[in-house]
Order: sequence, then C-alpha cells, then structure tokens
Amino acid sequence: MSDYRGRFAPTPSGPLHFGSLVAALASFLDARRAGGEWRLRIEDIDPPRCPAGAADTILRQLEAFGLHWDGPVIWQHDRHDAYQAALEQLIARDLAYPCSCSRKQWREYSVYPGWCRNGVSEPAKPVAWRLRSDLGLRPVVWQDRLFGQQRFDPAELGDVVLKRKDGLWAYQLAVVVDDADQDISDVVRGFDLLDNTPWQRQLQHALGVPEPSYLHLPLIIGEDGQKLSKQNLAPALPEQDDAVRPLLHAALTALDQTPPQELATAPVDEQLRWAVAHWKIDRLHAEAHRQASTDAP
Ligand code: GLU
Repeated sequence: MSDYRGRFAPTPSGPLHFGSLVAALASFLDARRAGGEWRLRIEDIDPPRCPAGAADTILRQLEAFGLHWDGPVIWQHDRHDAYQAALEQLIARDLAYPCSCSRKQWREYSVYPGWCRNGVSEPAKPVAWRLRSDLGLRPVVWQDRLFGQQRFDPAELGDVVLKRKDGLWAYQLAVVVDDADQDISDVVRGFDLLDNTPWQRQLQHALGVPEPSYLHLPLIIGEDGQKLSKQNLAPALPEQDDAVRPLLHAALTALDQTPPQELATAPVDEQLRWAVAHWKIDRLHAEAHRQASTDAP
C-alpha cells in the first residue's frame, strides 16, 4: 500500500460546480494513480456560510461522478477540541497572541503590523487570536509540484488569524490541524488557494507537524473568461447519469488529459479507470506556466 494520502475538502457553501469537480477529480486521480487513499473532509467551520443540505448535496454529487472516498467523512464542526488544543499549544510557546485591533485601525498597512504582540491594545474588546510571525519563523519556501518554487518572507505574510473575534475558527488553523490529523501527504487543489499555502506551511512548522506536498491546479476559466466559482454563479453539477457522463469527460478535458471522444458517453467508472491509468500532471504544466506569468500571487 502506498503512503500517499490525498483529500478533497469542500466548504459546503453551496453545491459543487464544474470548477470544484475539476479540483476533486484531479486530487482523486492523483491519489488513485499513486495507489493511495482519497479522503473527504467537509469544511463547515463557518455555519452562516453553509446552507442546510449543501453538504449532503456535495456527497451525492461526488457519488454520482464515481468519486468514492475512503474512510469516514470528517466534519469540521466536530473538530473544535482539536483546534483548541492546537491553539493552546501555540499559546504555551508564545507563538499565538490575542488581538483586539480592527481592520479599520490598520487599513493603511498591507498586513497587520503586530500592535498587540506584547499585550492586547484594548482588553475590554473581543479578541481574535493571531500567530506571531516575527519569532524565528523562517522564510516559507516550498516546491509546488506544478508552479515550482514558492518563497515568502514572514513580514509579507503578517500574523495570520487563527481564531476569529466572533469565536469561529479560521480556515488556516483548521485546515492545518485536519491535514495533520488525517495524515494527508498530498494536497491537490485550485490555484486560488496557492496564496493561502504559505500561512499553512508556517503553521505546520509552528505546530511541528509534517508538511504535505502541494499541487495547485491552473484555474478553470469559463467560456465568458471568468473564473468558475460559486461566487459568479457557475451552475450546480447534475446528479443524473446521462448528464454526469459528458460533464466528467469535460472535466478530464479541462485537466488536459485528452480522453478519447467515445469515452464521453461511457459510465463514470469506465471513464475514471481510463483516467487513473492515463493521469499525467505534465499535461497541466503549460497552462500552469501561462497562468503563473500573468497572475502570480
Ligand atoms: N474548503 C476550501 C474550499 O472549498 C478548500 C480547502 C483546501 O483544499 O485546502 O475552497
């Protein structure tokens, strides 16, 4: 059995659309090609953003496309204690501090200037918790499997929020704790998350957990030239088999895997068998290089 363990980690803010299908499919194919596991985590830490029923729709959509995951589904709403333990570990090592500042107060700076590092400015106010980035955290460097070497100075990253003023856990902390607890070795996800990765690497280092390898995918651009996302109302994926088959084929095409045309009407399992056997990330390189030169984070 391979050591590879990948995951798909959707936020259930709505049903999956074509762009999220492409991300799910790429991480699935990369995991299966490596003979590894593919896990599913529902990132529902921000309840106001997650309408009732959206997570169930996502599970049904993945099943309809034949993207069967291994093991139990992990739900972030069950993971409060793990996030709290991680925050306490950072506090005990003086790597996290409470902060009462509002965005308005530091709007003239590109990142939060760290005013509360040595004591909360306004203790009566609600506080967020931030990671200290000025204490021995090294420059963040990693080799993205597609976009190549990435390097960020801690000063450009600022002190990332770990827990918000409203008491909700920040995505950066939750994703790092979950990837570590789930033993994720490989993260394959959309280009839009590439500029979140340095904070995640920084946190992995601060928490002393392994750093997975990362592959960020080129963005999927719709026919209108816009990024496909829930925000710009990309249509929800269908669940009926006759509509699913050509769309799976289109997702393979969007990943530059050049599936044979006759596969477009084949059952999803047959399409996926072909795709696992032929999965090549080299095909994505040209597109990644084009996007990196025009849209570097
Ligand atoms: N939950 C994030 C999203 O749906 C993805 C997180 C990740 O893959 O790290 O955009």
